[in-house]
Amino acid sequence: FNVPTPINEPVKGYAPDSPERAELHRELKRLKQLELDIPMHIGGQEVRTGKMERISPPHDHQHTLGHFHLGDASHVQQAVDAALAARPMWAEMPWEHRAAIFLKAAELLAGPYRARINAATMLGQSKNAFQAEIDAACELIDFFRYNVHFMREIYEQQPQSSPGMWNRLEHRPLEGFVFALTPFNFTSIAGNLPSCVAMMGNVVVWKPANTQIYSAQVLMELFKEAGVPDGVINLVYVDGPTAGEVLFNHRDFAGIHFTGSTGVFQNIWKTIGQNIHKYKSYPRIVGETGGKDFILAHPSAHAKAVATAITRGAFEYQGQKCSAASRVYLPSNIYEEVKGYLVEDLKSLKMGDVEDFSNFINAVITEASFDKLAKYIDGAKSDPDAEIIAGGNYDKSKGYFVEPTVIVAKDPKYVTMCEELFGPVLTIHVYDADKFEETLDLVDSTSPYALTGAVFSQDRYAIDLASKRLQNAAGNFYINDKPTGAVVGQQPFGGARASGTNDKAGSILNLLRWVSPRAIKETF
Ligand code: GLU
Repeated sequence: FNVPTPINEPVKGYAPDSPERAELHRELKRLKQLELDIPMHIGGQEVRTGKMERISPPHDHQHTLGHFHLGDASHVQQAVDAALAARPMWAEMPWEHRAAIFLKAAELLAGPYRARINAATMLGQSKNAFQAEIDAACELIDFFRYNVHFMREIYEQQPQSSPGMWNRLEHRPLEGFVFALTPFNFTSIAGNLPSCVAMMGNVVVWKPANTQIYSAQVLMELFKEAGVPDGVINLVYVDGPTAGEVLFNHRDFAGIHFTGSTGVFQNIWKTIGQNIHKYKSYPRIVGETGGKDFILAHPSAHAKAVATAITRGAFEYQGQKCSAASRVYLPSNIYEEVKGYLVEDLKSLKMGDVEDFSNFINAVITEASFDKLAKYIDGAKSDPDAEIIAGGNYDKSKGYFVEPTVIVAKDPKYVTMCEELFGPVLTIHVYDADKFEETLDLVDSTSPYALTGAVFSQDRYAIDLASKRLQNAAGNFYINDKPTGAVVGQQPFGGARASGTNDKAGSILNLLRWVSPRAIKETF
């Protein structure tokens, strides 16, 4: 079979007076008036426990969007049972039918679900309309379409035969269930981690971050309407240790698809290691786990381009992207010029709720995140070796608002140059313009992470040198561009070192982790 040639979903602009803006406003208004009761979904059933947790927008914590039903270990067990019960039929289903389900999901998301998923992402995760559109709509549509295309490539990959024999490869699903543990910061990742596993014939227990449940339940409805059979993807709301206790002790645990923090991933890996004798097979462990992403400017860089990349790369979605720039190395010859543009840019950015589309900055996700960021900002304020050149204010009276903040640190190993903050706080180190080569070593050795990084230069020798010396410092390496905004099918996304297993999301490499091939030789 052929499948439709994938194209990237065109991004809507939400210009004033555009029909898409009017529709999105209507949807935001509609959702804000509802107080949703959000059940888990296990084996096609809605499961309510009566143990409710409130969901509110991070930019307006007094407002209630709804409540979700918190589950316990018994619900995780039910989800595993439902998944395993659904497995035989799903695994037997010819792949083109699985493909059709996810192609339909793409079309539903591009059409009738678009405003709803964007509005839910905006309200639940405090993401502005433009950031929601590139994430919850376009990127997830792209994941569905491109993954179907890669899936076909996998199934068509067949070995050679010779006279008298016929060799074939059967790309079987994993023998058991897969655990998808998904983050708050991208609705597209929350949708992709369970769906690309399911696409390859696997069954899934899906636990989203509590802070993303409001849009996760829309995705679950989308899966259902697209035709994902009951029990193939089971959505549970439980705390991490409870889920882990059941899932990582189960004989049929076949893999985990994870995006989240390094600490959690390392603990999961250890637990799986300790339990390894309990499993039928060696589980697949696939994870993307954060970054401390850099922008490095060479003395030949264009100051304006660097400043724009910093503004967008560090502060879109409040810096809450694993790919966000958070440490910048500027040469002394262009520092003042970059600083001028940057301070001016940041002054022009408006901060506030998501309903006013002119707000570039919205709230950070939780009070815990707010408090952590405030602590680092206060630390910089009282440190004579650090200077705050933009922002520095924060306020949690209505929502968790932190101004885009730029710290300039004398010490290239200053705490905020090294630690992942996951928020709108960026640190710059100014280096002597003669010391580009030494700075390359510094960039490479300062952080244990290796997710994204960008180099700015107009000098081809410098670009070549940076590409070579930093070859292990970033799984996604950008030349004269910001380090965020990877597009499915164009820049497969992921990093190594402490940033993850680098099984590039939205690529054939990732999908191959979710099959277990059988080589068959038949002689005649
Ligand atoms: N793929 C996103 C980007 O390129 C980042 C994903 C993440 O934060 O995990 O900006």
